[in-house]
Amino acid sequence: MKEEKKNRIAACKAAKKCGGCQYQGIPYEKQLQDKQKAVRQLMQSFCKTTEITGMKDPYHYRNKVHAVFARKKDGTIISGVYEEGTHRVVPVEACQIEDEKADAIINDIRGLLKSFKIKIYNEDTGYGLLRHVLIRRGFSTGEIMVVLVLGSPVMPSKNNFVKALRKLHPEITTVVLNVNDKRTSMVLGDRETTIYGKGYIEDVLCGLKFRISSKSFYQINPVQTEKLYGKAMELAGLSGTERVIDAYCGIGTIGMVAAKSAKEVIGVELNPDAVRDAVKNAKHNQMKNIRFYQEDAGRFMEKMAALGEKADVVFMDPPRSGSTEQFMKSVVTLAPKKIVYISCDPQTQARDLKYLTRHGYKAMGAYPYDMFPFTKHAENIVLLTKN
Ligand code: SAH
Repeated sequence: MKEEKKNRIAACKAAKKCGGCQYQGIPYEKQLQDKQKAVRQLMQSFCKTTEITGMKDPYHYRNKVHAVFARKKDGTIISGVYEEGTHRVVPVEACQIEDEKADAIINDIRGLLKSFKIKIYNEDTGYGLLRHVLIRRGFSTGEIMVVLVLGSPVMPSKNNFVKALRKLHPEITTVVLNVNDKRTSMVLGDRETTIYGKGYIEDVLCGLKFRISSKSFYQINPVQTEKLYGKAMELAGLSGTERVIDAYCGIGTIGMVAAKSAKEVIGVELNPDAVRDAVKNAKHNQMKNIRFYQEDAGRFMEKMAALGEKADVVFMDPPRSGSTEQFMKSVVTLAPKKIVYISCDPQTQARDLKYLTRHGYKAMGAYPYDMFPFTKHAENIVLLTKN
């Protein structure tokens, strides 16, 4: 096993330029120790930190893979990632953290382009068609979505292209065309059409089925997500009588797991696509005690507080930038007995903990999880209870 791991680490030719794996070549145990130490340091003035939960097999965990396409001066087509901080494309054919099936599909798409006369989009001139490919795979259902991001809306012989691609990869369940004609570093544009299948994939997490469309946030490491959510539920200790808020809820995963053992759950999320998925997910899983609102979480909580609403438990899982004072001030007014704060950036979480612990809450413990092996990122759950 050890020898095999070493070989896999040595195999990444793109590491230096890609910059995605800051822990390239560093033994996994050491990575975990480093993350553990970093989280503990950030948390030490608030509470104890338990040992970080790592992965048994820390490779190929990413269920979402993105590749940018480019044409070299000699005409060769490459696909991979942007060199860190630039718009130069570094070719990547295999990656130790990405799903291997997704990488194989991307390589085969590259192989098909020539015979279908599909030109690569040129960022400088705006000429050409294919810009990016995004792949999402439901690890437990096996469903695969391929999103072809184009610089203009018309793709010639798209049906034959899908046929040829599905011949190579019959496991692809849906293909979506996304049009991004802006000169932007954002991968996906606004317009989408489904050219094969249902336009989204489904995955099973904690015994519930979730639909995921191209733009919705979905945890990229489902193996660790089940452990993370399990811990969050254990800390919340729901008994069936509680009113729960799932803030920054994405497609409603945490809220729906909580709804199984709560009286009522309210989810709030800014991204309209994610909210649409969340509503459909609740219906599909026949959950009648959960509602979703599409709004800025801070503004939503402020309104709840102004209406004199109460909550027993608040789950909050903000993006890397963390939460806002508007949000936290309103949480304090809503006065839940428990706050379960899940964070993908313990640094901004520590900043937010400062506010919450100064306004009537006590941090009871920090529980780090390694959701992103080989990268510098760590995930951390903190339980806060009302003083
Ligand atoms: N809890 C979900 C999603 C967490 S990621 C899960 O575990 O899958 C953070 C989410 O916050 C994303 O879905 C993002 O769209 C959303 N978000 C970002 N800014 C927001 C804001 N100001 N108000 C509400 N949601 C926001």
